[in-house]
Amino acid sequence: MLPKKNDLITNGGVYRQMVRCGKANCRCTKGQMHEAHYFITRRYGRQRKLYIPKAKLEEVLEAVRESRRYRANNRNLMRRSIELLRISREQLRQFKEQNFGHPEEF
Ligand SMILES: [Zn+2]
Repeated sequence: MLPKKNDLITNGGVYRQMVRCGKANCRCTKGQMHEAHYFITRRYGRQRKLYIPKAKLEEVLEAVRESRRYRANNRNLMRRSIELLRISREQLRQFKEQNFGHPEEF
C-alpha cells in the first residue's frame, strides 16, 4: 500500500531499482532487468519500502514534490518570522535607549 497520509510522504523519496521478476524464461534472467520504483520512507527509525505500480508513479512523484514545496515554504516562513522578531527586538532596544537612556536586558 502506498502512503495516503502526508506525514508519511514528507520524509520519503522515490527510488528506482532494477529487479528480476522471477519468471524462468524472462529476459531479466539474461541480465535485462526490469525497472521498478519504490517509495522509501523512514518512520520511528524503521525503513519502509513500498512498491509503486507504474500507473501510480506520476501521482506519487507529484505528492513528493508538493510535500517538498510545502516544507520549503514552512522553512521560509520560519526564517522570516525569526528575522521580524530580531528587527522588533532591535527597534525596542533603540526605543528604550532613546527614551530611558540605557538599554535594558530583555
Ligand atoms: Zn523478468
